[in-house]
Amino acid sequence: MLSEILLPDPHSLRLDSASIEDDNLVLKVRSVHSEAPCPDCQQLSSREHSHYWRRPTDLACAGRQVQLHVFVRRFFCDNTACQRRTFAERFSPFLAPFARWTDRLGKSQRDLGVMTGGEAGAAALNALAMPVSGDTVLRAHPHCSATCGEHPAHYRDR
Ligand SMILES: [Zn+2]
Repeated sequence: MLSEILLPDPHSLRLDSASIEDDNLVLKVRSVHSEAPCPDCQQLSSREHSHYWRRPTDLACAGRQVQLHVFVRRFFCDNTACQRRTFAERFSPFLAPFARWTDRLGKSQRDLGVMTGGEAGAAALNALAMPVSGDTVLRAHPHCSATCGEHPAHYRDR
């Protein structure tokens, strides 16, 4: 029940622990799957090479910033026809490779950026415990640049 409320994808993530650290809600999670597909050849692998942690920010909860601590496994690709020797498991579609925040937090940043403008959107997100810079809010919009002039975000520049 708690997992379904808190996690971006409760069907593919398992919640190991929830704690408060530095006033943030820290959720330690890992994949529920024992194997993952190689991103190049799609062959499944369960032979683990190593692991590491990713710490993306997620949507705030009860006025606190939420930090995911995602346990990421690196697997061997044992397909001899594949160029890739190892790969890290992916968490698409809710967390892009190398992303520092979840897709749903990025969507909130984009939506607020389009509706309110870069600095105002950043102020709103900060008040909602999802701190971000105004420039990041502007950059989060997929189809505009800082000079497109077509969104409220850029009216201040006119
Ligand atoms: Zn492969």
